[in-house]
Amino acid sequence: KKTLRLILGDQLNLNHSWFENKSDNVIYFMAESQEETSYVKHHIQKVVAFFLSMRNFKKDLESQGHQVIYFQIDDKNNQQSLSDNLNKIIKEEEIEHFEYLYPDEYRLDIKLKTICNKLSISSQVKDSEHFYTQREDVENFYKGKKEMTMEYFYRDMRKKHEIMMLNAKKPEGGQWNFDKSNRKKWTGKPPIPKFKAFDKNVEDVLKQIETMGIKTMGRIDQEKFPWPTSRKECIEVLNYFCTHLLVHFGDYEDALHTDEKFLFHSRLSFAMNSKMLSPKEVIETTLDYYYDHKEEIDISQIEGFIRQILGWREFMRGVYWQEMPGYKSKNELQNTNKLPDFYWTGDTKMNCLKHAVNQSLDDAYAHHIQRLMILGNFALLTMTDPDEVDAWYLGVYIDAIEWVELTNTRGMSQFADGGIVATKPYVSSGSYINKMGNYCKSCQYSVSKKEGEDACPFNNLYWNFLYEKQEHFKNNQRMNMMMSLLKKMDKETLNHHISRSKKIIKNPSNF
Ligand code: FAD
Ligand code: SF4
Repeated sequence: KKTLRLILGDQLNLNHSWFENKSDNVIYFMAESQEETSYVKHHIQKVVAFFLSMRNFKKDLESQGHQVIYFQIDDKNNQQSLSDNLNKIIKEEEIEHFEYLYPDEYRLDIKLKTICNKLSISSQVKDSEHFYTQREDVENFYKGKKEMTMEYFYRDMRKKHEIMMLNAKKPEGGQWNFDKSNRKKWTGKPPIPKFKAFDKNVEDVLKQIETMGIKTMGRIDQEKFPWPTSRKECIEVLNYFCTHLLVHFGDYEDALHTDEKFLFHSRLSFAMNSKMLSPKEVIETTLDYYYDHKEEIDISQIEGFIRQILGWREFMRGVYWQEMPGYKSKNELQNTNKLPDFYWTGDTKMNCLKHAVNQSLDDAYAHHIQRLMILGNFALLTMTDPDEVDAWYLGVYIDAIEWVELTNTRGMSQFADGGIVATKPYVSSGSYINKMGNYCKSCQYSVSKKEGEDACPFNNLYWNFLYEKQEHFKNNQRMNMMMSLLKKMDKETLNHHISRSKKIIKNPSNF
């Protein structure tokens, strides 16, 4: 039967079993489309990265002898919508059977099911062969359990896949988790190797994007595009991580610094989320490197890295499929404020936010603690509508795809799911930001002050937030200590926190 196989932009898995055999009867189809670039305003680097990676993927498939129909964004045959493109090709190529891979996004899952129901030819869906888990594995694992603590899922994954295990039950190094060793502040040493960049000229694709009127956000240097956009380049980033960064990954995982945007982070999320690299090969490659260099690399570095991928990444995907479609509109804390304008410009006096926003706009990247404890922290403390927060995060980051963006943003960061992902909200005053980095040193606000025009805004917002949301947290044991401190706080101090917070929330761009 003449078959059409669809490959979505985040399904660039060259090792998929589809590609093991060549057939004159199989045509692959890929398309850049306005539909997929316009449901939220994306960072320009993200659009460029996806288009270039898709184009390289097409070249790789063709060089292996596969037939590919590819619509660039400005192709005159491109109908700009998935269903119109598919219908057109099925008719023109006289296709008798249609196949696709399970998408990772709920919206596309429904859309493809609907398209298939309407087709007059047969259709079939296959696994994307990327993740360790199936969509429903996390839900099944936690069935009957009270809380979805990620740690137990992670341990189970280690056992199941025999990763860093001494025997069937005992973890290597005698403990499952070395998180406590992952909390160092970086103060100039050890030196941080320059990040692996590719310095590509992207003038042509930028012109096409502009001509087609795709609205984007963020900044780009058209002569120096840094992200990997082919499997070969992704492997280079992975190898670079092993040889240069793994040695200190865990130590400085939570560190913040004005001069160092990437520290020892891998920058592999785009490579994995587009599926150019599989989590399995990332874990196996880094583990092999670790075992060959055990004298130089402490177990806490590799364990911290593996936990993020084998634990958090798979866990978030499972939560997404367990909770969708309802998850997308959860707003447990009933937050309704607008996202401050400075998230789109970086124009704020608060130094930590200035760095984190500008970095996000310049590089389509911020590391985990910037996303969680600066940008997410401020959005939650100012009680921002999670829809606004989600739209920003989904647009701005190179790695933002709904299944992992939504669970991290609405769940882990904004506590809008009421505690499915995180057991307590990730909020803090300025002291945590000061503890983990040097932003406060060059800030015009004083992190130690709680009163006065130059007091760090986080210090007021923190207590105001706990006060405002006390009803929500009264049964949350992990909040007990902070709630009892709030209760003991003298009225005058509390009133000061509340009144300054009102000003900040009313006009965040003045701060
Ligand atoms: P590293 O620090 O080098 O970590 C290695 C890998 O671990 C990452 O590439 C990623 O695949 C995985 N990982 C680490 N933490 C997480 C996590 N919490 N959830 C899932 N995977 C994780 N990650 C995304 O891939 N897409 C997103 O849209 C996204 N949005 C986020 C929003 C918020 C509010 C927060 C707090 C985190 C978000 N993350 C997201 C998780 C994390 O911040 C990024 O994966 C990471 O910063 C990517 O950079 P890296 O590759 O250098 O990561
Ligand atoms: Fe951020 Fe407050 Fe520190 Fe300034 S003083 S950098 S606003 S935490």
